[in-house]
Order: sequence, then C-alpha cells, then structure tokens
Amino acid sequence: MAWETVIGLEIHVQLTTKSKIFSGASTRFGAEPNTQACLVDLGFPGVLPVLNEGAVRRAVLFGTAIEAEIARRSVFARKNYFYPDLPKGYQISQYELPIVGRGHVEILLENGERKRIGVTRAHLEEDAGKSLHEDFHGYTGIDLNRAGTPLLEIVSEPDLRSAKEAVAYAKKIHQIVTYLGICDGNMQEGSFRMDANVSVRPVGRKEFGTRTELKNLNSFRFLERAIDFEVERQIDVLESGGQVVQETRLYDAQKDETRSMRTKEEANDYRYFPDPDLLPLVIEDAFIEETVKGMPELPEARRRRFEEEYGLSAYDAEVLTATRPQADYYEAVVAVAGDAKLAANWMMVELFGALNKAGLSLEVSPVSAEALGGLVKRIADDTISGKIAKTVFEEMWRSGRAADEIIEEKGLRQITDSSAIEAIVDEVLAENAQQVENYRNADPKKQPKMLGFFVGQVMKKSQGKANPRQVNELLRNKLG
Ligand code: ADP
Ligand code: MG
Repeated sequence: MAWETVIGLEIHVQLTTKSKIFSGASTRFGAEPNTQACLVDLGFPGVLPVLNEGAVRRAVLFGTAIEAEIARRSVFARKNYFYPDLPKGYQISQYELPIVGRGHVEILLENGERKRIGVTRAHLEEDAGKSLHEDFHGYTGIDLNRAGTPLLEIVSEPDLRSAKEAVAYAKKIHQIVTYLGICDGNMQEGSFRMDANVSVRPVGRKEFGTRTELKNLNSFRFLERAIDFEVERQIDVLESGGQVVQETRLYDAQKDETRSMRTKEEANDYRYFPDPDLLPLVIEDAFIEETVKGMPELPEARRRRFEEEYGLSAYDAEVLTATRPQADYYEAVVAVAGDAKLAANWMMVELFGALNKAGLSLEVSPVSAEALGGLVKRIADDTISGKIAKTVFEEMWRSGRAADEIIEEKGLRQITDSSAIEAIVDEVLAENAQQVENYRNADPKKQPKMLGFFVGQVMKKSQGKANPRQVNELLRNKLG
C-alpha cells in the first residue's frame, strides 16, 4: 500500500530581548546556573509579572512578515503542570487568543516549485528552566536561568508532506526570524527548537491518521532523520495490523530512533485559565505602525531585488540572500567593485571555497567585503586578469592586505599597452617559425586550437600579465 506523510511543526523561537518576558532579569546565555532567575520568574507569592514591550514588538514584526492578522486583543493564560524545571507549577502562555493569527510562508521544493505553507498561529510565552542530566551522577541538576525567557511559539498547519518539506519550512522560519533580528537563531544554545507532529495515511484518504509528536529537535539534520525514522515506524505498525498511539516521542540521535516518552496530554489536562495577574494585551494600530516602520527587508523581497537590481540568476540570488550577513556582505562588495555579476562569482566561488576549506564562517572571514570589492574592481577595470586575481586573493587571505597594495608591490599590473604586447607577440612568432608555418598551412578548423600554443607562449613571456583578449586578437591578425 502507498502511504502519504503528514507533518505539522511547532517551533519555539527565543526572542532577543535583553530581559525576560515578565521580569527585569537578564536573558544572557551561559551565566552561572541559578543566578538569573528572580522572584517573578519563580512565581513567588506576592510578586506580579509585567509584560516586556520588546517581546510584543518582536511578535508583531513576525506576524507582519508572514502576512498574518495581529490580534488587537490577546490574553495570557496559565498552563498548569508540575515539573522540576517549572517549580512554580504553571507556565504563562497564550491559549485561546494568541497575538498572531493565521499567516503563511513559501518554501522552495526540490523540483524548483514553490509551495505555500500555512501558519496557524504564533503566541507569546515564557520558557521553563533546564534539567541537566549529564553533569551529575544519579542526580538531575536544575538551572532556572532560562525560566521566564521570552518565546514565540509558531504553529504550522499540517501542510508538510515529507521530512524534506519540513526542513525547508523550518529553515524558512529560521531565515525570517534572523532577518528580522527577533531571534539570534543559535540552535546549539537552544534559541530555535522544533517539535514535529507526524502521521501517515493511505494515499487518497481524506482523514488524517493518528499523530505522534517528536519533541525538542535542535538541528535541521535531526529534524529530518527523526521524521524519516518515525514515518517508517508508523508504517510498520500499521502494516502489521497495529495502531499508532497518540503520544510524545523523543528522538535519540545516537541510536537514530524515536522512543515513547509519555502519552499525549489533552488540553484539558493543563487546566488553562486566563492569568489573573496580567491584563489582556491590547494593541493599537499606531503601535503596529510604529513597530513595522523599521522593519528590515525580508529574504523574499531581497532575493527578488538581487535578481532585478544586480541581474543575478535566481539561483545566485537565492544563495546570496540565504542569510542576512551574507546578503549584507555581498552588497558591500558590489558597492566597491561596481561589477555585480563578477562580485557574485568571486564571493560564491573563491571566497566561499576558501571559507569552507578553512572551516570558517563569513562573520570571521580574513578578507573583508571592502577588500574583496577592491580586488573585483581591479579585475573589472582590466588592471589584472582573473588568473592573477586568484594569486592576489590568496595573498589577501594570508596577510589581510588590500588588493592594490599587493598588485603594486609585486608588479602584477596587467599589460594593456598594445605596442608592448605586440613586441612580445613578434618575439614569440620569430622564435617559433616552424609552428607559424604549420599554422598557416593547417585546416582552418584546427587553427583555433593551434592558436592556444602561441597564446601560452606570450602569456609565459609576459609572466601572465599580458591582457589575454588583446593577445588573442593580435595573434589572430598576425597569423591570419
Ligand atoms: P497540540 O496543541 O495538542 O499540540 P494542535 O492541534 O495545536 O495540537 O496541533 C499541533 C501541531 O500538530 C500543528 O502543527 C498541527 O499542524 C499538527 N497536526 C495536527 N494534526 C496532525 C496530524 N494528524 N498529523 C500531523 N500533524 C498534525
Ligand atoms: Mg503540541
């Protein structure tokens, strides 16, 4: 039987506010355990939460970016459960009235088509603390620094049909929140965590199958592998006559399998009710307008602009706008270099190649955007050839010096003075009388290939500095 996979993702995005969502405690990552949880984060009696405006603005930016309705009135609710990392006994979240309503994003499929994925909602909530299992033998450590950190939980429609589509969607959300600057996107530090809801159904059936929820996936690779494993597992269960149990499962990356964690809670297990300590959140149009005014250009718009303004191919534009630092770097190169296509080639081939080889990210590139621009400019204005430019680039990478400095010091300037090139061409022709003879007697179809020999000799004599276009032209004239 043929099966179809159905996936919906819940993504927890940690917002970049300096302080927590309901208190003034710091959100800085990596502090000494239990030094950044204040009485409000711990829910002590007698304290009152105060909503952080920065968190609300970030949610508004996201909602606008996905063309969602921003709720003019939303409500914070208590979600009640007890767990060691939530000693106050409830999490403040939004339930029936979330701040961001229905929206959508577009993903690029492997076959080049674009697919629209619905976003059901996005709501603000506080994070819980962290259980540390590794540092203590036979014990679990509790670090409450993370308690009260602002999160935006983004819930997708069950529109995804494969692990690859789920990854493309998750990457798109990651791209949007990092472009907006509302999340640092750091997956190792847990700033972007994904839960995948997975079910299968026979192809052609309308009703969804029973789903399981895979919790806390913190890399795109694990997301893909966890879904792939889970889909196989569910199909095996169904094909051997069993039934999928609705439950929460954990992905074990070492064993590459998912394991049952607990049966799924129903919403009424959480006894949601409006938090009596917080007023409903009411947003005025002016607040939204003011927030959205400074909104940075989004990836889709930037990709389209790169195609139009710089004449880049769809592929190049997609690659160069993949992250905001990358797109910023490219625009800084073009500003200096002038030639947009040449700048794209040099960035994608030479620079990315060198960064890859050295295992470095663009943020710490030894060659700055201005420096690369300076090099590309000298190729564009014929000061050096593309070939010599590779040598200059290597030297720039090693020393961090500017292209012009290296070109002058090493005397790498291209010879474009035609009488100087002509003198070398004449020398080469005189030294190779026999080859000249052969060329002239040869079948015209074979001549272009034979021309390469003379070009090579001239380039050698000029130490690679003769302008190749002029060399070719002169040789063709003199031999023809
Ligand atoms: P809960 O709040 O209990 O987790 P929701 O109804 O809010 O449940 O759904 C959570 C996620 O599960 C959403 O992303 C939704 O798209 C997805 N989902 C719902 N039903 C299915 C299903 N049968 N198969 C796969 N995903 C599903
Ligand atoms: Mg859920």
